[in-house]
Amino acid sequence: MTHSRCEVCGREFSAWALIACPICAKVVCRKCGYFDYGRTFCSRDCAILFFHGDDEDELDREEI
Ligand SMILES: [Zn+2]
Ligand SMILES: [Zn+2]
Repeated sequence: MTHSRCEVCGREFSAWALIACPICAKVVCRKCGYFDYGRTFCSRDCAILFFHGDDEDELDREEI
């Protein structure tokens, strides 16, 4: 398939114009994407997750 849909704004774009979030794999266009740390994320939340990493999380994670 050559076209995909931005999962934020719902518009269709060519595959090359879309970015998969490295955190949650949501596909977003460049306008909806949040660019930080040299990558494009689907949202600022994912950029923050990327920055903090998955191992240590003092916010709201409930570990067993
Ligand atoms: Zn979009
Ligand atoms: Zn994301």
